[in-house]
Formats: sequence, structure tokens, C-alpha cells
Amino acid sequence: MVRVGDADNDLTSGSIRIRAHHLLCIQGFQGLGYSKEFTKNMAQIKDELLNNPSSFIRLVIGVDSICECCPHNSKGICSKGHTSENKMRVMDSLILRNLGIEAGSVISSKYIPSLTRNLSRETVFRAINGGNHSLFLW
Ligand code: SF4
Repeated sequence: MVRVGDADNDLTSGSIRIRAHHLLCIQGFQGLGYSKEFTKNMAQIKDELLNNPSSFIRLVIGVDSICECCPHNSKGICSKGHTSENKMRVMDSLILRNLGIEAGSVISSKYIPSLTRNLSRETVFRAINGGNHSLFLW
């Protein structure tokens, strides 16, 4: 069962903010990205989350630790296209709804692979087609 918390405590206070649709991007990341800084940050986050079983993520709707180094992040808003932030938020909400997890929940990163496996094919299809990301495969 996925461990879910909604408040900071000693265990989860160092959690990494991850916007929900980035669960797919983390899994699909292949070392490419929007800039050198973005790619380096993404690689570090992926390594931490998938190889450190004691790390935690806070699932959010909105910009996250991956967006922090993205050239499209304009003062906390995804500005890849003029409607991108809205589209990204719709994708985040869709993923959370499909998983039955509330925004702001904290979970162990070791559940990331099983969470994405549990997403319905329809949800993944809608998420891919609802945003501007290139199939989450960078
Ligand atoms: S394109 Fe937008 S959602 Fe994706 S990483 Fe950049 S700022 Fe974040």
C-alpha cells in the first residue's frame, strides 16, 4: 500500500516537490531536455528518487523541483506556450485523480514505478495528448 501523509514531519520534511504528471516524465527521461541545466537537474532528481529508497516526494499541481531549472519556468508559471500552465495543471489533476491521491500528499519515492504502472491507459493517453511535452521521453 502507498504510504501517504499530508503534513510535514521528520521523515517527510525533505520531500522533493513533484508535479503529478512528472511521474511519467521521470520514468521516461533518457538524458535529453530543454537546456543543459534542466537536463542535469532532471538527471539528479531521477537518480535520487529511483535509487534512494528513503527519499520522499510531495505530489503537487503546479511548478516543482524539475521546473526549477527549466527555461520555460517564468516566475513559477510554465510558459512553454501561452496556455501551458493550465494544460500542465489539468494533466497533474488528471494523474492524481486516476491514482486516488490528493494534491500535497507525501509518498515514498519507491512507489513511483508502481504508481505509474497503475495509471489507466486512457489517463496516460490523455496526459500525453493534453500537454506540450514530447511523449515524456527526453
Ligand atoms: S515545460 Fe513547464 S512543466 Fe515542463 S518542466 Fe518546464 S516549466 Fe515545468
